[in-house]
Amino acid sequence: LDASGTFWELVERRARLTPHRPALLQEDRSLTFGELRERAERAAAGLYELGVRAGSVVVWQLPTRIETVLLSLALARLGAVQSPVIPFYRDREVGFALRESKAEYLVVPGEWRGFDHASMARRLARRLPGPLVVLRAYDELPDGDPALLPPPPGDGTSVRWIYWTSGTTSAPRGVLHTDRSLLAGGSCLAHALRPTPDDVGSIAFPYAHIGGPDYLVMLLLRGFPAVLFEQFAMPDALAEYRRHGVTVAGGSTAFYSMFLTEQRKDPAAPVLPTLRLLAGGGAPKPPELYHAVVRELGCELTHGYGMTEVPMITMGSPDDTPENLATTEGRPPRGMSIRITDPAGEPVPAGTDGEVRLRGEAVCQGYLGAAADAGTFDQDGYLLTGDLGHLTPSGHLVLTGRLKDVIIRKGENISAKEIEDLLHEHPAVADAAVIGLPDAERGERVCAVLELRDSAALAPAEAVAYLRGTGLAGHKLPEQVEVVDALPRNEALRKVLKYRLREMFG
Ligand code: ATP
Ligand code: MG
Repeated sequence: LDASGTFWELVERRARLTPHRPALLQEDRSLTFGELRERAERAAAGLYELGVRAGSVVVWQLPTRIETVLLSLALARLGAVQSPVIPFYRDREVGFALRESKAEYLVVPGEWRGFDHASMARRLARRLPGPLVVLRAYDELPDGDPALLPPPPGDGTSVRWIYWTSGTTSAPRGVLHTDRSLLAGGSCLAHALRPTPDDVGSIAFPYAHIGGPDYLVMLLLRGFPAVLFEQFAMPDALAEYRRHGVTVAGGSTAFYSMFLTEQRKDPAAPVLPTLRLLAGGGAPKPPELYHAVVRELGCELTHGYGMTEVPMITMGSPDDTPENLATTEGRPPRGMSIRITDPAGEPVPAGTDGEVRLRGEAVCQGYLGAAADAGTFDQDGYLLTGDLGHLTPSGHLVLTGRLKDVIIRKGENISAKEIEDLLHEHPAVADAAVIGLPDAERGERVCAVLELRDSAALAPAEAVAYLRGTGLAGHKLPEQVEVVDALPRNEALRKVLKYRLREMFG
């Protein structure tokens, strides 16, 4: 199938083509593509009876379940504007999403994992300027008669999705997507991973993340199923992988390490005999991790670069050399144009570091509300990613850091990533984040925040002495070193939240 038209049209095309093939698997349940279409349409009719229309703004905060996918498809069928929020978020983040998106509806699971989402919803509703209808969905979805539904909206170019960035560099921003941009993203993923109908995929990250529909589009295009996890934890997740014979596991860097940890408990017995491909992205991946996965898990690893604004930008391909797979983020798919620019926006020669800028069908429409400023796109229509990197002669992208991770101390540019990479090599360091803090004298000063390994000790002065010993230039040595029990991370991909660190130590 191709990725033209609307999200709902793709669901219909797949349901006509292979109605009896499984689409979603979870614990002992499975749903076929035909059932997916039928049940989503019934849910759409139920939502319609509750007043949801094309263009209604619906925030949903639901765990990764078959019903959640159905609810999202039901909203796509109606042409509502849906804004998924990951289930771990609390009053602050959910309230922000409701206010920013001017939501009319909020869908929550009632009580989930010891937290009362329904009470939170009522609390938040009282504080909003406009009315908010709170709906519950977990095991049951609204249900109605599809015959009463108006025809599905036919255009794929209206904004119908609002996804929230992780909030690594600043407060999360609402990213505007159309059916077309999400379909283009999923299509890129399908081209990169080349799954066959015999594959069994898996979605280990929260479905409320942009990777959710991205992955679903791939399932719809290629007609193979994926396993969903409401709660992803090792070693239980392994039993699920085995039960369904997963061949393609999706995730991000943190998941690769989780698989390796399990495998290392008994190196002789493969933890996942059916696994052929581990595919993920969204966070930096040390080259050594690539080699360890291939060697110890005995599968391929393709890692990609994506962002909420563009779910798939580049991806390693099974045809790439191990060297490229280990040290680059892969190549852009057809239809994605990458430009590397200097601070003035001028393209730089291959091999030179600069800001990554993107143009293509999978790129979002921009940001919501206050975050939507003129600086999102350049005059040629390229999205400014804020990421730094270069292209190799073979067209592979190497990411080297983020613009906002460049610390400018007394006018000298210092890369946070360079210092972090060195700190990672210290045996006592479990993880490290380097930030620039405002400093009256120097503009910014370098601050390193360390998470130490269990029972390890490292005094701030020792950390600095270690860095000096590596030959790091004196002006890059941290002027402030903080040790924390755990770095603040987001729940979706376990990424370090540097803006929180700036609040804590600035
Ligand atoms: P915010 O935009 O709110 O500061 P965020 O950028 O972390 O948060 P996401 O959209 O979840 O929010 O993450 C996208 C970013 O993650 C990319 O811009 C990039 O910096 C980083 N990233 C994604 N893939 C990779 C990768 N393969 N290697 C290194 N970094 C990556
Ligand atoms: Mg970002």
